[in-house]
Amino acid sequence: MSTALPSSVDVVVVGAGNAAFCAALSAAEHGVSVLMLERAPEEEAGGNSRFTAGAFRCVYDGVEDLRKLMPDLTDEEVANSDFGSYPAEKFFDDMGRVTEYRTDPDLCELLVTRSKSTMLWMRDKGVRFVPIWGRQAYKIGGKFKFWGGLTVEAWGGGPGLVESLTQIARRNRISIAYGARAVSLIADDEGIKGVRLKRAGRTVDVMARCVVLAAGGFQANAEMRTRYLGPGWELAKVRGTRFNTGDGIRMALDIGAMPTGNWSGGHAVGWDRNAPEFGDLEVGDNFQKHSYPWGIMLNANGERFVDEGADFRNYTYAKYGRVILLQPGQFAWQVFDAKIIPMLRDEYRIKRVTKVRAESLEELVGKLDDVNAEKALETIRAYNAAVMTAVPFDPNVKDGRGTRGLAIPKSNWANTIDAPPFEAYAVTCGLTFTFGGLKIDTSARVLDTESTVIPGLYAAGELVGGLFYFNYPGGTGLMNGAVFGRIAGASAGQRAVQCHELAKSRSMADRQ
Ligand SMILES: Cc1cc2nc3c(=O)[nH]c(=O)nc-3n(C[C@H](O)[C@H](O)[C@H](O)COP(=O)(O)OP(=O)(O)OC[C@H]3O[C@@H](n4cnc5c(N)ncnc54)[C@H](O)[C@@H]3O)c2cc1C
Repeated sequence: MSTALPSSVDVVVVGAGNAAFCAALSAAEHGVSVLMLERAPEEEAGGNSRFTAGAFRCVYDGVEDLRKLMPDLTDEEVANSDFGSYPAEKFFDDMGRVTEYRTDPDLCELLVTRSKSTMLWMRDKGVRFVPIWGRQAYKIGGKFKFWGGLTVEAWGGGPGLVESLTQIARRNRISIAYGARAVSLIADDEGIKGVRLKRAGRTVDVMARCVVLAAGGFQANAEMRTRYLGPGWELAKVRGTRFNTGDGIRMALDIGAMPTGNWSGGHAVGWDRNAPEFGDLEVGDNFQKHSYPWGIMLNANGERFVDEGADFRNYTYAKYGRVILLQPGQFAWQVFDAKIIPMLRDEYRIKRVTKVRAESLEELVGKLDDVNAEKALETIRAYNAAVMTAVPFDPNVKDGRGTRGLAIPKSNWANTIDAPPFEAYAVTCGLTFTFGGLKIDTSARVLDTESTVIPGLYAAGELVGGLFYFNYPGGTGLMNGAVFGRIAGASAGQRAVQCHELAKSRSMADRQ
């Protein structure tokens, strides 16, 4: 049965992804009424958050911090793992490096310094976390060694996260209206007064003291993609939800909010060439193909076009989608041999995969659709000859096993491609989310083009600009939504309480 819409409420949260749930739960801590509006029907609800692997990048100073976050960790698991640590300095370094030091320092500071406490807050609410055994650790000498600062995921991945946040929200008496698309903000000179929405073909106004926008970026809007990211982006596939079409950003800009951040940038990865236009919840993030650091990538001309081993996957995957989009025909083939095939991530073994297999390199290049086979063979041979084979291969560190003398070097993990069978996987650009968005302050209040707070309007998650430029450290999207969702919800909850108190004192004054 669909939730009845109230005519007024203290706080409206637009969206029902991770940022929105964190905002709603945080606002509800102030004892105010909270309504979440979710554009998607319940079966498709949860935004991009539901498509994720549930990986959260957070500060931890050692295994004791992880035990607090994951009390189910057994002594045996701890003994069999080298979790290392991920201190705040490292998180700052990663954010600075991958964004070329453009990340907003105030927002970045909050993201990093609140990451641990926000994770513990989510755990206290009932979200369960587990170590990412599969994807972020390799077994060495009988021990799992974690390597990328990305160690924790929500139990059940993105679907598990959204499911548990939904149940927790319901337990906290937060109403969720599905199929309810916010279309505009109701505001006057004093600030926000409510939201206009469309549900089942009808336009409805819900009055509210505060509105938190957590409706995602504009990646699912081909027109906005082309307008802001540039020509060719209408040809990219969308990895996640079809519902993030920039509504939250547009509604805020319409009432004078300030746009900020990397409007021509986005998080985009190598994604199966034949994946559907938008994400498919049955496949989730398994259309991605992230083992390219161990192999090479060839374009339609049969040429390599990027340093596949420039850095750990976590620090290159989010920008290489754009590089693939720029190739002729917007695709590439990832090539591996028998030495590496057993190391390929699970996503290479799904049914819906564009893959070829061959017993010789000659046979392989002939099977690469739309590729200059002769040139591809030449490229693979030149690459094989350039590999510094004396340097040992070690997937856990940047091993320096590179190439010598190639116009486009491979800096690490350069393995010759000479042991049959060979496999190749076709990828195109899969856009995850856009980086440009709304300008907020450290209380997650939305600022207008005069840098003045728009009273009653808050924002969190993908639709906030300023944190990410050019690239993004894996696992930061969920952490971003959680940290700023929690801040936005607290700010909105506090304001709603103040509005109540003000209204009460005014009515008492009127009566006297
Ligand atoms: C395949 C994939 C894998 C990923 N893996 C990871 C990962 O492991 N770790 C990580 O940190 N990040 C990951 N990301 C990125 C991550 O998904 C996002 O950064 C994060 O989920 C954004 O959260 P959000 O709450 O801001 O937006 P979303 O979760 O997208 O939520 C937006 C919500 O707004 C709703 N909405 C949109 N318009 C309206 C409207 N007009 N009215 C009402 N509701 C509206 C949507 O339906 C949705 O519910 C991944 C993304 C994808 C696509």
